[in-house]
Amino acid sequence: MTRVGVNGYGTIGKRVADAVAAQPDMVLRGVAKRSPNHEADSAVQRGYALYAADSDRLGEFEHAGLPLAGTLPDLLDSVDVIVDCCPAGVGARNRERYASHDVRAVFQGGEAANVADASFTARTSFETARDADTVRVVSCNTTGLARLLAPLDEAYGVEKARVTLVRRGGDPAQTDRGPINDIVPDPATVPSHHGPDVRTVLPEVDIDTAALKAPVTAMHTHSVNVSLGAAPTADEVRELLARESRLFLIPEVAGIDGAGKLKEYALDCGRPRGDLWENCLWAESISVSGTDLYLFQNVHQEADVVPENIDAIRAMTTDIPVDESVTRTNEALGVGL
Ligand code: NAD
Repeated sequence: MTRVGVNGYGTIGKRVADAVAAQPDMVLRGVAKRSPNHEADSAVQRGYALYAADSDRLGEFEHAGLPLAGTLPDLLDSVDVIVDCCPAGVGARNRERYASHDVRAVFQGGEAANVADASFTARTSFETARDADTVRVVSCNTTGLARLLAPLDEAYGVEKARVTLVRRGGDPAQTDRGPINDIVPDPATVPSHHGPDVRTVLPEVDIDTAALKAPVTAMHTHSVNVSLGAAPTADEVRELLARESRLFLIPEVAGIDGAGKLKEYALDCGRPRGDLWENCLWAESISVSGTDLYLFQNVHQEADVVPENIDAIRAMTTDIPVDESVTRTNEALGVGL
């Protein structure tokens, strides 16, 4: 059993903690929180051992009536792997602390690529992460693009990918984010940083990205154009992508026209928090003109990186082959719509 801890119990951390707890070959030793807020309370209610990330804030947890199992160093001494889910940039500051406890660390996509020995998606980088001491699971958008471009590149060759990302303004709980009444280029410079991030896991793929932010919270939307090295039919592309376990091709008959119905579907299917771990591609949007492929996909920013974190842990700590890890993760979580 691989012993795992989570430091930073927010949007990503609480989902990773649940996913670790669901794996038959992993044990969640606890989660570390900085503040004794509602998420700390919910961790205790879920039965997770709660650790204080800062030793000078113990009194705040006591005042809030939240029982602590110890502080972050205690958690680090009891795990093989720590998954850092702190806000972007905090992970880099934690890096030395993890190393000093001789603990392997998984970081998130808000960190710069040089925070870790390898950047990771299971589809592209499992063997690169094998035995690594530190791994960075790439961002939600990068994960979604890598899952899509890897099979296309293998089957046809990707000559050039051009993607416009319409990003959600903030997560549902982020009341301080925006815009609330506009669609803004973000960043206004083109290409955006997303393309170079894709190349941390797919270095051979030529990709340019442009990004906007929209007043929505549910999901990101990608408008994708890929110039291929071959001219498949749209049906052949659909069949290729349908074979990928973390791509969900939304059938036209489902009547799902956007993120609202996708989330409703996930909730109706009993998904925890309405999470969509898969890329969601509109099957009828897949079109081919000559060697140019077009499609729309949605990415649930809070969820798609979660199974990737689980596979990253297995790549770092076991000799299990990638297909077996992905299958185990998918089965334990229920990935596959
Ligand atoms: P979040 O703000 O929801 O959660 C971060 C948690 O860490 C909060 O509970 C916060 O209180 C806690 N925290 C802050 N400082 C800490 C410290 N020093 N020690 C321990 N805990 C601390 O953030 P998030 O959205 O979960 O993002 C976490 C990471 O995941 C970032 O790198 C982010 O870029 C990346 N990521 C986020 C999303 C997303 O859409 N939310 C998607 C993919 C990747």
